Parts: sequence; C-alpha cells; structure tokens
Amino acid sequence: MASLQPVRGTHDLLPEENRVQDHIAETARAIGELYGYHRMTTPIFEFTDVFARTLGDTSDVVTKEMYTFEDRGGEKITLRPENTAGIARAYISNGMQQMSPVKVCYYGPMFRYERPQKGRQRQFHQIGVELLGVEQVAGDIEVIAYGAHILKSLGLWDNITLELNTLGDPESRAAYRNVLVDYFKGHFDKLSEDSRNRLDKNPLRILDSKDEGDRELVANAPLFAEYLNEHSQTFFKQLTDGLGDIGINYQLNPRLVRGLDYYCHTCFEFVTSTLGAQGTVMAGGRYDGLVSTMGGPQTAGVGWAAGVERLAMMVGTGPAAVRPVALIPMGDAAESRCRSLAQQLREAGIAVELGYAGNMKKRMKRADKANAKMAVIIGDDELAKGVAMVRDLDAGEQREVAIDSLIGVIGER
Ligand code: ATP
Ligand code: MG
Repeated sequence: MASLQPVRGTHDLLPEENRVQDHIAETARAIGELYGYHRMTTPIFEFTDVFARTLGDTSDVVTKEMYTFEDRGGEKITLRPENTAGIARAYISNGMQQMSPVKVCYYGPMFRYERPQKGRQRQFHQIGVELLGVEQVAGDIEVIAYGAHILKSLGLWDNITLELNTLGDPESRAAYRNVLVDYFKGHFDKLSEDSRNRLDKNPLRILDSKDEGDRELVANAPLFAEYLNEHSQTFFKQLTDGLGDIGINYQLNPRLVRGLDYYCHTCFEFVTSTLGAQGTVMAGGRYDGLVSTMGGPQTAGVGWAAGVERLAMMVGTGPAAVRPVALIPMGDAAESRCRSLAQQLREAGIAVELGYAGNMKKRMKRADKANAKMAVIIGDDELAKGVAMVRDLDAGEQREVAIDSLIGVIGER
C-alpha cells in the first residue's frame, strides 16, 4: 500500500527531532514572557477569505500555495499558510482592541503547497510574534529585540545577519511605486512573464524576483530610499538608532520588500548562510493596514515569523533527555513494591524507567539504553529488610539504601 508513505512535503517528527522543536518553541515562549508577550493559538483552518483577502490575490501564497477545500457544509476552507491573518481575524472577532496593545506570540503548523526541498516543506512550523495597536517605532525595536534574543539564546547568533529595509509610509510608497512602474515599463521586453503580470498589481514584488533577467534590471532600478518623505525617513532613523541602543547590528538591504499594500516602514529578515538557498530563518515587518483591510478598526501592527524546521537544522541536537532512574524488581513481591515506588518517585518529580518484563540482565540492558543514571535493584531479600541496592551507573559503585529514604538519596544525585 503506497499510501503508507507520508504525503509529499510532510514528515514525521520522531522524538529526537521533536525535542529540538519543542526546545525552540519553549525558548521562544519563555523569552516572550520577558517582553510581555503571551502565547495565543488560532485554528489551523479558517475561511479561505481570511487569507485570500489579506495576502492579496497576486501573491505566490494565494495563487499557488494554499491548501483550500470545500468542507461538507459547502464552506470554503483553507489550511493556514501563515498565522498573521488568523491573529488579525481573531483580534477583530474577539474585540481585542479593548486590550490594546495586544502582545502575542504563537507556535504551530502551517501549510503551503510548495516544491519540497531542504528547508521547504508543505507542512512546516512557525514561531511568531504580533504586536497590535502600537504605531511607535519602539514597537518595531521591541519585536526585533525579542527575535534576536531567541536566536542568541539558541546559540545561533554568530551565524545570523539582520537585514533591514524600510517601505516608508503609504505616501512614500505610492510615489516609489509610480517611479518603479515607469522604470520597468521602459524595460518591459526584458521582464520575465511573472514580473510582467506583477507590473500593474504588485510592482514591488519584482524587486525580489528570483529570475536572472529580472535581477539585472532590479540592480539598476531606482532605490526606495530616494523617495521616502520626511516622516518615513525619521521613522527609519529612529529604528536604526534604537537598534544601536541595544547593540543589534544590521545590514541595509534595499531589495528587501513585501508586496502587499498594508505593509509599511520596517521590513526585516534574519538570514544565515549556513542553510544554503533557504537562508531566511525569521522574517517580519510592520503592517499598519492589515486589520482595517480585513474590516476591523484601523490598527497598527508589527511582527515576525520564523521557520522552526530551519532553526532546528541550525540548532542541531536538542537538550539531552532527562536521565531516569531504573527500577529493577526481582520477583513478584518486588514487582508490586516497585510499581508503587515508581509512582511515588514520579510524583516526586523523578523520572523512572520501570521495565515491563525480563530478567535482571535484560532490565539492566534496558536501563543502559534509557541512559539511566542509576539502577535501584530490589529483590525478595532486600524487600524483607526494607532496603534497595542502589547502583550508580556512571561510577559503577553500589550501596544499600533504605527504601523509605530513596527519594532523598536519588534527589541528591
Ligand atoms: P521563502 O522566500 O523562503 O519562500 P516566505 O517569504 O514565503 O519565504 P514567510 O512567509 O515570510 O516566508 O515565512 C516566514 C518564515 O517561515 C520563512 O523565513 C521560513 O523560515 C519559514 N518558511 C516559510 N515557508 C516555509 C516552508 N515551506 N517550509 C519551511 N519553512 C518555511
Ligand atoms: Mg514562500
């Protein structure tokens, strides 16, 4: 049965790999608390409109990558390709503007129909953050600081660069857009087909085209920086000054863009050269127009999302699994005693490996496999005396300990 393979672009997270991802998600959540961000979770599917309207009908995600289906009730449903739209939807449906500013982070699976390759899957995971209701640049600085803090805490900072750009406010953007359209129209015959289609609807997207011919044109295209009005320039200056205050270096990348109109000002990516072509680990920016585009109140927003699989590849191995204590009963009476003892130890917070069957040798092997730090051996003789043989599996030493004082003795090691 061929269908016993996982669906292309999906894969099973076996415990080892799962531990790395949990570590990343937990690091992000715990650091979030330090900045006042709390985790929230939206459904993994939404009405298709939530994404189609917000991601724009010319974006790759909407035109090529969405998992969309009709459910049994005839509703058009999409598995979320990202979480910002879902959180903006939830912000509106739950009247969250009452709680402004809203500071949330998230973790969960996302779905995009893409060509699977290293660092690119059809079901993948993101951690992310959204700050809603703060129009000041202090918000942008805070979410970038939070992202950098996670990358540092995961030990990845040495291999990461922050790339930064500004898209300006709507006025600057409109001015730049006109200049850009004129420029590309002058070279229409050299543009790729995709970019010709983008020219009217989404000209900024041409700037991050991967087509070689487009790239040559882009290299000579007018720069956004020359069309920023004063407000936009000030905003960007305050951002870079703020990053200076907290010692975060950045590299200007004038080609860093987001195609959609509700993005403005800050645009950034944390990138690495250690992952080959899929080098962007964390991407974000300001999206002051998003909530209103969806029909909610005018609300400022800024945030980022990071690919957990890409981070996991950089992190490598996760924290070691907890080393258990192996309980080894010999005989029926000891078996029963060990069952209650195991329960007691576990409730005291001590990890216990209690085999299911087998002789002493088999159980010792199992203890070894579980990387147990000690073995507690209880046979009928020991039981009669109320003691256990405690063997330190690293040092190889062994001693007799009263069963009643086991918790204390084990806790010390
Ligand atoms: P790319 O240019 O790599 O397609 P993107 O612009 O589509 O990225 P975003 O929508 O900004 O990516 O998502 C944020 C992050 O999520 C990316 O930087 C990446 O780390 C991760 N990511 C996006 N798509 C995938 C995927 N298909 N598989 C694994 N990780 C992904
Ligand atoms: Mg993509």
